[in-house]
Amino acid sequence: MPTLCDDSAALTARLDQARHDYAALKAQKLSLDLTRGKPSPAQLDMAGGLLDLPAHQYRAADGTDCRNYGPPGKGLRELREIFAPVLRVPVEQLVAVGNSSLELMHDCLVHLLLGRGPEGERRWADRKVAFLAPVPGYDRHFALCERFGIEMLPVPMTPDGPDMTAVEDLVRSDPRVKGIWCVPKYSNPDGTCYSEETVRRLAAMETAAPDFRVFWDNAYAVHHLTDEEVEVADILAACAEAGHPDRAFVFGSTSKITMAGAGVAFFGSSPANVDWWLSYAGKRTIGPDKLNQLRHARFLGDTDGLRAHMRRHREILRPKFDTVLRVFARELDGSGLATWSHPKGGYFITLNVLQGCAREVVRLAKEAGIAVTPAGATHPYRDDPQDSVIRIGPTYPETAELERIAQGVAVCVRLAGYGKLVDQSRTRQGVG
Ligand code: PMP
Repeated sequence: MPTLCDDSAALTARLDQARHDYAALKAQKLSLDLTRGKPSPAQLDMAGGLLDLPAHQYRAADGTDCRNYGPPGKGLRELREIFAPVLRVPVEQLVAVGNSSLELMHDCLVHLLLGRGPEGERRWADRKVAFLAPVPGYDRHFALCERFGIEMLPVPMTPDGPDMTAVEDLVRSDPRVKGIWCVPKYSNPDGTCYSEETVRRLAAMETAAPDFRVFWDNAYAVHHLTDEEVEVADILAACAEAGHPDRAFVFGSTSKITMAGAGVAFFGSSPANVDWWLSYAGKRTIGPDKLNQLRHARFLGDTDGLRAHMRRHREILRPKFDTVLRVFARELDGSGLATWSHPKGGYFITLNVLQGCAREVVRLAKEAGIAVTPAGATHPYRDDPQDSVIRIGPTYPETAELERIAQGVAVCVRLAGYGKLVDQSRTRQGVG
């Protein structure tokens, strides 16, 4: 962060200005929401063609009548072929199933807790289990761990992915550590893309637990915001090369491609892990919604069609991200009160405010009618020890609304930040 202004008269003047701006903000009686990363109605409209599949088109390429049960297996091949290259999973090792990747992560945990692992390991429920949680991270990953009593050990994120030295130390020394959450591309919330070196080290590292698993949640595989369409190294190939072919579970979905909650999810892994998955999944459901899979395959056409569709998403999303970044730059650059990420893809901007200010910023915003994701949500147990990380989800609101939201958040950052600095300056001077 830039140097803080420590001239106390100047600080007090800035605090007064922030108080004035905050009063004006409250007077607008806003009611705005940027809590969750949801696609906007305009993005959903772009997938409207999904709902127009003619009633007589119900046969998959292999002749399967998608209106009926069966055959058991991995889901429609034509859909898996579209997603295999972007998820970097060979088509034979990719399963299309369900409508939510989170559901598949949940189920993997349940199967590992209650059943034998892919290599016949003992069930996890009989022992203490811990997961590494790179921070900042995705709150719903953390909620799954809490749900199942899996202890979370935070590891810091770096610009290349999780701090691999910390990760390697923990997995080498502690057999309770059975897994790590990874959002490898345009991560939620800080937009990080894992470097090749990070992927290689995750695949190769020695783990005290023989059944260690990388939960590779590739939720933003095709969600680019710039011309630079970032590629992340192939985790399944890296694991196989390193002699740990069964280490990674890959997840993805069309939630932020077609319709959130009405899409298709994917699970990919080694051939042994896919067999393991299917043996349990076949008990849970007779089969996936093949009509929806067929609709998706027809609508997207092929992998190029998927990429073209995502470029149209980008046309909607890029101005929204630009608006927030432009307003933050205008309102906060040089203040020393905040830094923020400049993601090349994904759904979020991370705003880092002065230590001890995030909760206060979120509280002030709420009081002014702007709902922001609760501070702490980006950390296990909702505990951000620095109280400094705020997740901004600019995808849903209209661009004009975002201008007001970002400006409002910036006012709250200034009020909380200058308030803190004035307090600190008074304490230093023995005042108050
Ligand atoms: N993983 C990440 C990293 C996400 O950001 C999200 C959506 N917020 C999900 C998974 C949820 O995806 P799905 O709708 O497929 O369950």
